[in-house]
Amino acid sequence: MSINRKLSTQFDTIASVLEVMGANAFKINANRRVARIIKEYPTDLAEFAGDKKGLTSIEGIGSGSADRILEFIDTGQINELTQLASEIPEGLIDLLEVPGLGPKTVRRFWQEAEVTSLDELRKAISDGRLESLPRFGTKKIENISDSLAFMEASGDRMRLGTALPIAESLIETLLQVPGTRKIEYAGSLRRGRETIGDIDLLAVSDDPDALAEAFTTGPDVIKILAQGKTKCSVRLERGVQIDLRMIEDSAFGAALMYFTGSKEHNVELRERAIKAGQRLNEYGLFPDDGGEGTPQSRGIQPVASRTEEDIYEALELPWQPPELREQRDSAEDPPPPLVTTDAIRAELHAHTNASDGVMTLRELVEQAKSRGYHTIAVTDHSKSSGQANGLSPDRLRAHIDAIHEINDEIKGIRVLAGSEVDILADGRLDYDDELLARLDIVVASPHAALTQDSKKATSRLLAAIEHPLVHIIGHPTGRIINKREGLSPDMPRLFESAVEHDTVMEINANPLRLDLRDTHVRLAVEMGCQIAINTDSHRPEDFDLLRYGILTARRGRLGPKQCINAWTARKLHSWLAGKRS
Ligand SMILES: [Zn+2]
Ligand SMILES: [Zn+2]
Repeated sequence: MSINRKLSTQFDTIASVLEVMGANAFKINANRRVARIIKEYPTDLAEFAGDKKGLTSIEGIGSGSADRILEFIDTGQINELTQLASEIPEGLIDLLEVPGLGPKTVRRFWQEAEVTSLDELRKAISDGRLESLPRFGTKKIENISDSLAFMEASGDRMRLGTALPIAESLIETLLQVPGTRKIEYAGSLRRGRETIGDIDLLAVSDDPDALAEAFTTGPDVIKILAQGKTKCSVRLERGVQIDLRMIEDSAFGAALMYFTGSKEHNVELRERAIKAGQRLNEYGLFPDDGGEGTPQSRGIQPVASRTEEDIYEALELPWQPPELREQRDSAEDPPPPLVTTDAIRAELHAHTNASDGVMTLRELVEQAKSRGYHTIAVTDHSKSSGQANGLSPDRLRAHIDAIHEINDEIKGIRVLAGSEVDILADGRLDYDDELLARLDIVVASPHAALTQDSKKATSRLLAAIEHPLVHIIGHPTGRIINKREGLSPDMPRLFESAVEHDTVMEINANPLRLDLRDTHVRLAVEMGCQIAINTDSHRPEDFDLLRYGILTARRGRLGPKQCINAWTARKLHSWLAGKRS
């Protein structure tokens, strides 16, 4: 992974801290400029290790900046930032993370209202201290208050799409350490939740000391939080905490089950064990002899412990996929058939460089073909998405011709001419019906006016669902996880109407979106809605985001029959055409 983004954030933070300190504008802007240059630099700056001359030959990078970049490549940090940060109250850095709070405002809060932490900020809002500041209206303070509430709701949980690659690459590295026999991730990550608190790893090793050493001295580790015989904890940059537990192979299943959770699921299993005269803990399922202390400490042998399957079986329960081990699912219910990544045969929402994607039409089709898909839908943006270079009606007409041509030329895959048409704020679509009718597939999505009230959002989305030329509603709420709440329409009403009008609801697999979210999917599945899982690919590698959509779908109990991307070509194409007759 390129270091450019992390590095750019460091320069941005230096600029922000300088601004909070009241440094001169020239110095602040210089750092901001370097941050921007780094962020937009096309290749990984880590390749410039030790090459100061190379760095300074980049336009806008001076000698001082080059030194700091080299330092970061070398040590993973910039000393100047640590120095600067130590000169202001620690909590001010947290304040900079509040959406909508810029460095200038943070400085004023600090200087004029003695606010130096998030807690202080909350107090200052409730005791009216902020309102008494000149040029600070109620509206502004309300916005800050909303941002704080939103931050609290999302906590410092990282997105699934951040956590999973970190866990996987760490596991891959640690498996190389001699003596390591297996490592798996557990916790909410294994259950596929959309955000993750800490990452939990479980390992079996013949040389736990060597494994612990490798774990705590990893390149991204900024702090060792604990280092013991059976458990180590470290903190990576951006606050990610990872726990590594050493487990006996004979008790691996019990530990995996215990640390996967959820807590509610574990409680249900433990109670079931008790009813059967047994005890379940992280070391296994034991016969209960009524003695004091834990059974394993008294040398009692477990009934089951090696694998999760063994334990579920001994409890006379069906094995539950981790995605279903949530409060709302009973351990006694046999799990329904769930959709898998392998079952997906079509991508029905993807962009080319005609709008804001990077792939040419041909590259997109070849990419889909290489994934073994029978169908790829080309759905570039419509004209109102100006930022995304949305297509005018004329450009779309030419695009349709180009798509038909490539469909005739490339064998082995069906290429659908489509559009991701904007659902405008009032529910109208961004192209007229005559043009929409010429498309093989229409994905209709909300992109603007995402703060409108629930009532307006409901009628807006209902209009799109009921539109006879619309096949799929793309990312129905428009939310961005940890950033933007998006619309909150009356979901049961939408799903009812979707069933009635044979319109499909999308799970957008991009881990920033996961929209529909798991609880919505579950409701939609129960109500008999058909669901699409689309990656909304803009780059070739975006096709790999599918797995996040699959995890979300499985958490919503979606099976392959109700997922249109898992249908055969024949079934899918006849449904698409059905909406045109
Ligand atoms: Zn979109
Ligand atoms: Zn899109």
